[in-house]
This record gives sequence, structure tokens and C-alpha cells, in this order.
Amino acid sequence: MDRIPGDRIEPRVAPGADRGGRAAYAVDPFEPAYLALARSGELERRVELAIAELADCCACPRNCHVDRLAGRAKICHTGRHAIVSSAFAHFGEEDCLRGWNGSGTIFFGLCNLRCVFCQNWDISQQRSGRECTAEEIAGLMLALQDRGCHNINFVTPEHVAPQVIEAVAAAVPLGLRLPIVYNTSAYDALASLRLLDGIVDIYMPDFKFWHRESARRFAKAKDYPERAREAIAEMHRQVGVLRFGPDGLARRGVLVRHLVMPGQSEEAAAILDWLARELSPDTYVNVMDQYRPTFEVGAETRYADIARRPSPTEVAAARARAAAAGLRTDERIR
Ligand code: SF4
Repeated sequence: MDRIPGDRIEPRVAPGADRGGRAAYAVDPFEPAYLALARSGELERRVELAIAELADCCACPRNCHVDRLAGRAKICHTGRHAIVSSAFAHFGEEDCLRGWNGSGTIFFGLCNLRCVFCQNWDISQQRSGRECTAEEIAGLMLALQDRGCHNINFVTPEHVAPQVIEAVAAAVPLGLRLPIVYNTSAYDALASLRLLDGIVDIYMPDFKFWHRESARRFAKAKDYPERAREAIAEMHRQVGVLRFGPDGLARRGVLVRHLVMPGQSEEAAAILDWLARELSPDTYVNVMDQYRPTFEVGAETRYADIARRPSPTEVAAARARAAAAGLRTDERIR
């Protein structure tokens, strides 16, 4: 398999090595959901539906109606094939995903949002990486599995959901057996999520904004709050609350992220309360504190109001709100 430019696959951990004397990967009877779809023939049907969707693209809430099969592109600047920026064993994800051999991360290039504070703007807002066919992405997935990664973690997949389905289908006959993680901004189309039903094992949406004005100003998508609520509710309907294997690794369910932003405590509280009320108080939520001003945000810009780190008080308030709502925030998801 060709290594892609920028490929950051890290050195392989020695076989059997782990953090606590536990046996290495693949010892429990977990079966990823997509194998049942493959056996029934439904996975191939999903591929056909998903690729057909590209001819008049509404694969995400932007509803551009361009023919991506003909190579046309609009807001996501992505045509027939997904752009892969990097593929690597990621040790910075949540504990239940990184485990001891890393989360098998495939980072897609470009994005359907325009977050002015994007920490990955060099990947999300400009072309970085190269177009990969479904077979090439399947090859990356198998390479990550061979390295002992615990899952396949598709990052920024919203605008390439059809290509994700196609790649999973191509990887199954090659021997893919890892759970699929869909690591998303939550700006996803319901139609695409329904095509992913039974293919994704773990949804990891980042619920960013509660107010339309914040979403318009900071991500150029004023309908983000409604679309995110619909999308996360659909994810929960498909896979439910996050569950773990006997080794402590995530197996299936929804793991929500919320990045605490400066001056937005009220939005954080609304998001966390909604998750407890509308999904389940058993929902796992990682309340993250790593926001920092970058990209288009700075003290001298029109985004000066978010040109600082969230204060310890703001982070503590969001975490306290999650706890008060009864949400699950234990160390497995940090
Ligand atoms: S994926 Fe979204 S942004 Fe990209 S062309 Fe389709 S509708 Fe537009």
C-alpha cells in the first residue's frame, strides 16, 4: 500500500504491550455492525445509494446540488473522491479510543464548516493531502488495523459520508474487523446518517453552538444548532448510550464532545441540559478545555471577544453543569 503524503503512522507498539498487563487487541467477541450488513447484501445497496447521492449533492446540510460524480465541488471543495490528509495511530483521543495502541485515525481534508477558530485550518480550509479512492482508503484502514489500532476513526467525514460508506464496503472483504468511529462536527445531513445506520459503531459528534447567531458568526452556518440537534438525536437512535468492552475500550454508542469557548457559558449549559433531557442523562460527554485563539481569531480582529482561552472558572462551570445534569464524564472519555 502506498503511504500518503503527510502520513504520520507512528511506530508500532511492541506486540503484547499495554498499559496494565491486559492482553493486546482483539480478544473479546465484539463484532462491528457493518459485518451483518455486508452478509445480508445491504452494505452494497448502501454504497449504491450513497454514491448516487453525489450526483446532486445533499450529502451535508449545505445542500449544494452539484454533480460531484462529474468532479464538481462547491462549499466543501471535494469532488468524486475524498481527500485524505493523514492516517496515523492517534494517542491524543479519549482514553477509551486510544487504548494502548492508538486510535486508527484517517483525517479527511477540507470541511463543510468555516470555523474562524479552527485549530486544523491548514487541513480544513485549504487543500492538503491527496484524493484517495475507496480502495486506497480501505488500504489505509487495513494498515491501521495491522498496526494494532483499536478502531478506525474518520475525522471530519461530514462532506464525504458517501465515500466513507464506499471505503468501509471495500475494506470488509480485505478483513476489516475494527469498530468505526465517526468523528464529526455534527453538521451532518440526516439522509447521510441514515445511510450510515449499521455501519458506524461509535458516533463522536462535537456539539459546538446553541445559538444561531454564534453559529453564523463563528462557523458561517446559522442552521448549525438545529442540524446538530437532529443529527445527534439520530446518532443516539442508531447506537444509543456509549458502551465498553471488558478491556475498557469503546465498542458502540454516542460520545459527545463540547469545546468550552470563552464567554459562552450560557450556550454550554443549554447544550449540556439538552443532551441530558433529549438523549439520556447516561450520555457520555467530554467537556474539553483546549480552545485557544488561532486562525482568524486575534485581539485585533472582529473576533476579539473569543481571542482568549476559556477561564478556569468557565471550564469548571461547564463541567459542573454536566455533572448536575447527570451526564457521564468519567476518566474513560478524557
Ligand atoms: S457535501 Fe455538503 S458542502 Fe459538499 S457539495 Fe455536498 S452539500 Fe455541498
